[in-house]
Amino acid sequence: MQDLTHYIGGSHVAGTSGRFADVFNPATGEVQARVPLASSDEMDRAVQIAAEAQPAWAATNPQRRARVLMQFVHLLNRDMDKLAEALSREHGKTLPDAAGDVQRGLEVVEYCIGAPQMLKGEFTDSAGPGIDMYSMRQPLGVTAGITPFNFPAMIPMWMFAPAIACGNAFILKPSERDPSVPLMLAELMEEAGLPKGILQVVNGDKEAVDAILHHPVIQSVGFVGSTPIAEYIYSTGCANGKRVQCFGGAKNHMIVMPDADLDQAADALIGAGYGAAGERCMAISVAVPVGDETADRLIDKLAPRIEALKVGPYTSGTDVDYGPVVTAAAKQNIERLVQSGLDAGAKLVVDGRNFSLQGYEDGFFLGPHLFDHATRDMEIYQKEIFGPVLTTVRAQTYEEALTLAMDHEYGNGTAIFTRDGDAARDFANRVNVGMVGINVPIPVPLAYHTFGGWKKSAFGDLNQHGPDAFKFYTRTKTVTARWPSGIKEGGEFSIPVME
Ligand code: NAD
Repeated sequence: MQDLTHYIGGSHVAGTSGRFADVFNPATGEVQARVPLASSDEMDRAVQIAAEAQPAWAATNPQRRARVLMQFVHLLNRDMDKLAEALSREHGKTLPDAAGDVQRGLEVVEYCIGAPQMLKGEFTDSAGPGIDMYSMRQPLGVTAGITPFNFPAMIPMWMFAPAIACGNAFILKPSERDPSVPLMLAELMEEAGLPKGILQVVNGDKEAVDAILHHPVIQSVGFVGSTPIAEYIYSTGCANGKRVQCFGGAKNHMIVMPDADLDQAADALIGAGYGAAGERCMAISVAVPVGDETADRLIDKLAPRIEALKVGPYTSGTDVDYGPVVTAAAKQNIERLVQSGLDAGAKLVVDGRNFSLQGYEDGFFLGPHLFDHATRDMEIYQKEIFGPVLTTVRAQTYEEALTLAMDHEYGNGTAIFTRDGDAARDFANRVNVGMVGINVPIPVPLAYHTFGGWKKSAFGDLNQHGPDAFKFYTRTKTVTARWPSGIKEGGEFSIPVME
């Protein structure tokens, strides 16, 4: 069994707290590694190193900083298979899905190569007589991020790429469930030319998180994870004077209108509901067919597709549709919620209980489930299940379907499937959800737009990646300047270049 480390000051460092968490292989159920859980002293050491390294990085011109990210993109592509394998081994998702996890992070790194353009300030010539006014975007200093288990490559990159491109140092506290890929990313950033101490990985649990939230040197905290923890981090971080953005849980509805192409809708629901075993914050977990006839036809199309899903370990390559869930505790929680749906009277059309895979009996696998006739008051509708369970709530009208999505406490993503442009437009305009798909089930915006939900799915005013990230990781300084007239210098005859 392997003992994992922290990555502090440019080196792998063994944990000194004496506390560890087990890292499982979800496909076999075996403990494959131990990850050290940092004490607040270990976090403090990383913060001191970051604070020492950051001013020189901030003073490095933005093009040079961007070149490190360019090289990092090259290294990510070079090591894509290695990263995907390490990710699947700890998370359980299939290899193509793991490569997608790396790729969606890489795309944000590519976007951040444009940092010199994004960091250009504003300038007003002659704001008054002989007076110019300009605004600069300056880095915050030492920044930190706390990330969830379900995208161990993508979400860390969504945070550290813009933070570092802006001239900050960044401390990553990844999920203790799958910490290997974040450690590999930190190594690759240094191989790409990043100075030591600018990106550090401190593994841990609540103690490390609290050390971040209470550390006076840390200026900002980014968080992605479940809503109760998001609320805790947002309120504690803000009370301690930090800039905080937190992204929480989800319950994404897909409205299926009577005029939708139902084969297309069913295919979309299969991928969006069961991909990554439903462990995606943008997974569709609620199908809302409009009208009983639409519902009956949709269920008829869904059931055989769901029954044909192939569930297995990532080592089966492209031959599996989804893998195990992340831990035995996650599996038990999903099973409990399925039982609560049955007890409450929802109809289990596809029953994934008692699923077993020969040779992997101890793995955290779950068969796919499909509920029909669920209602608003049921726990399976209200709670985020985060497993391979799709819940159908029938609506009789478009307005009722819209109201369902609007009344739910989460507002991360949603989708409408229809051929009616007017209905789609009305839905996109009125729904109080941050990311909307029109005949697109998982509307994750690309790197140059921003990602973020509404309601209990996000706390803070700026989204992840896109232009918002450059606002989150910088502060604005505005200078008003008047210069007395002086002696004009002689000419410079060689073309100025960026050294
Ligand atoms: P989680 O909230 O359990 O953990 C997230 C992070 O918080 C981890 O680094 C963990 O170590 C830390 N943490 C856990 N308990 C803590 C505590 N008591 N105090 C302080 N820190 C604590 O979330 P998870 O299970 O890793 O991830 C799944 C959740 O993340 C789902 O709810 C999913 O919807 C959400 N998610 C949201 C988005 C989004 O962008 N909105 C993206 C991905 C995942």
